[in-house]
Amino acid sequence: MKASEATRRYFNLAADHLDLSPGIREAMLMPQREVQVQVSIERDDGSLATYVGFRVQHDKSRGPMKGGLRYHHEVNLDETRSLASLMTWKTAVVDLPYGGAKGGIGVNPRSLSMREIERLTRAFVDQIHDIVGPDTDIPAPDMGTDHRVMAWFRNQWEKYHGFNPAVITGKPVEEYGAKGREEATGRGVGSLTVKTTKRLGFKPSETTIAIQGFGNVGSHAAKFLNEAQFPIVAVSDISGTYFRQDGLDVAGVLRHKLQHPDGSLEGYTECEVLPVDALLTLPDTDILIPAALGGVITKHNAKEISAKAIIEAANGPIDPIADEILNERGVTILPDILANAGGVTVSYFEWVQNRQHYRWTLDRVRQELDRTLSEAFENVWRTSQEQGVSLRTAAYIIGITRVRRASELAGMT
Ligand code: NAD
Repeated sequence: MKASEATRRYFNLAADHLDLSPGIREAMLMPQREVQVQVSIERDDGSLATYVGFRVQHDKSRGPMKGGLRYHHEVNLDETRSLASLMTWKTAVVDLPYGGAKGGIGVNPRSLSMREIERLTRAFVDQIHDIVGPDTDIPAPDMGTDHRVMAWFRNQWEKYHGFNPAVITGKPVEEYGAKGREEATGRGVGSLTVKTTKRLGFKPSETTIAIQGFGNVGSHAAKFLNEAQFPIVAVSDISGTYFRQDGLDVAGVLRHKLQHPDGSLEGYTECEVLPVDALLTLPDTDILIPAALGGVITKHNAKEISAKAIIEAANGPIDPIADEILNERGVTILPDILANAGGVTVSYFEWVQNRQHYRWTLDRVRQELDRTLSEAFENVWRTSQEQGVSLRTAAYIIGITRVRRASELAGMT
């Protein structure tokens, strides 16, 4: 199933509980603007390479649009469209004054040198600088991009428009970035996992966790949950699944990752090494945290998943058919639009700091993050109980209602 079809289905499941006409549904689903651009760079060897870049701006009813930039060879318009709409519902669920957008380039960043990635980023900004800005659309990191890419993006954008660090978030801390932004998504995933397990009556030390993807989000979530006494029995990245029934030495795994320039776990031997795909269907896992790609849990593997709860750290990891199978089996699913909202929340704090020229302490960032996510979690949990719907449908009901209300107040029908 196409990614945009999946988000459309999730939207409609929630919209069925709301009084929304077919016309309003269509208007809420259709992106405001979709841009596709050519991004050409000179490679280090002097040859010319050309890639395709996208920026999809989905909705601006609640404020400037916000969403990450992804560098991955599978990036395409349909996926970007789906991710942009997820950002609209996500910013609404956590009640940030933003709309939703997403962008990216169809490129494998591992095939490029650092200088080539810089040239690629600058060439992309040359193509889209007019449609992004601190009051219109504010990009951020996502898969394959990091604080360095954000710094290049800002620098290139400012060549056209002048000083304004609020044009992008996820910047290096010494370059107008926010303390705590790098850890924010993983930390949020961790704290929401703790809240979910509490509601389910699980004891941390007896609750095993498997995490797919050990990049920015997966590694910070692992660290947070390990410190909260949960045994992390497996983590994976593209090099394989690293498994230990009595719990991995998470500090050791993190050290290994840091010692390898590309952040890979390849060569880590203090545990069993299984094939990449083994992680999702490991037996006896209590909590599964997909923190890599979308569309990884489908009707083909949903029945084999042993976890009692799934925390969607990645965007769109479960397709709607798998979602139905898992719901029927009583698996609790904390949806992406809440589970990974820590990143955009601290991005919002960064934007606020940039606009006020005032820096927050790490403690303040963490406190405000925890408060924002807690409120959103309680709201989603309560709505789910009151309306007898899944946590996903509850989160969409809240998000859609807020977006709809903003358009009504603005006088749009
Ligand atoms: P990243 O590029 O830092 O890390 C991705 C990780 O996934 C890497 O360890 C990679 O090896 C691994 N991976 C890729 N394909 C895999 C596969 N088939 N099996 C197992 N592992 C695989 O990316 P990230 O920033 O950590 O983002 C991960 C997910 O979280 C994405 O879906 C992204 O959209 C979502 N997300 C990220 C943020 C953020 O702030 N970074 C915010 C919200 C959501």
